[in-house]
Amino acid sequence: MSLTEKTSELLPWMEEDFRQLVALKESNKLAHAYLFGGQQGLGKLLLAKYFSHYLLCSNTRGNDVCGECRECQLLSAGTHPDLKVIQPEDSSEIKIQQVRETINFISQTSQRGGYKIIIIEPAEALNTNSANALLKVLEEPSDNTLLILVSHQPALLMATIRSRCHLKKFNRPSSELSIPWLESKNVRAPAAELLRIANNIPLRALHFADDDALHDRSVLHTVLEKLLQGQMNIAEAADQCEHYSLEDNIEALMLCSSDILIHNQMGPANSESPLYDHDLKSLADFFQSGTRLKALHEFYQELLTARRVINSTSNPNRMLVLESLFFNWASIARQ
Ligand SMILES: [Zn+2]
Repeated sequence: MSLTEKTSELLPWMEEDFRQLVALKESNKLAHAYLFGGQQGLGKLLLAKYFSHYLLCSNTRGNDVCGECRECQLLSAGTHPDLKVIQPEDSSEIKIQQVRETINFISQTSQRGGYKIIIIEPAEALNTNSANALLKVLEEPSDNTLLILVSHQPALLMATIRSRCHLKKFNRPSSELSIPWLESKNVRAPAAELLRIANNIPLRALHFADDDALHDRSVLHTVLEKLLQGQMNIAEAADQCEHYSLEDNIEALMLCSSDILIHNQMGPANSESPLYDHDLKSLADFFQSGTRLKALHEFYQELLTARRVINSTSNPNRMLVLESLFFNWASIARQ
């Protein structure tokens, strides 16, 4: 299910941010450029689209779009001429040509008489040339033009870009908001468990629900067991997990490691979760000795480092990172 295709949903944990943006608009204090920063899967793009929709609708009702006016019709058809969403096209980068088209778009008058809005997602996909070209736009804002940069890794953006945008930071929502939302999507697996393996990132949890991630999680546990027993080599292990992004694999390894640590140090953290005990029992048994537990602690630190590295590097060698993590995991058995 690709939620990002829809513009019509205001996610419950984004309502407060949306109201703040509306209030700024109503008091004519809206900045000309925003940077929506935060982890991928929180719904930043959806908020950017929803707020754009609000700005363009000609008949808003309170904080809501009307869904009926000509603007709303064009928006839901994805053909509104005054909204541009710039994303990488045939590569992982946003190219200078795309930014030039944006500059051209901004220089023209709005076709429908209201705002002209550009959403760039993810902004860290701008290469150096395109980021430099975009700087001009940011330095010379034009009236009734709004630029929203959506970034999962704002630290990777050029400082000159960041400093010219008004930063809005997004954090993971509370489970009081995300669990009912996830349940409303009719997911088959328990919402709380999906959120747990998705590190409380709701759109990632939804993606996991579609992807049968709970099953894949037990595949990962089997891979980890076989690595410890010397029954699988590193390349095979990486193959089994390549279905997921490196970020997701690292999160899954972190969750699994911390579950085992908690289990062996304090007893089951959550005995009510059936998945927890059955699935991890044999792995957890392996880590009963103090030496192995210490090695697992060190492995967890390596995962934290790997996560930092991939977050601060624009193009890490993903397969190499995953294989080296599996190598370190397998070597715990030799300690
Ligand atoms: Zn409308």
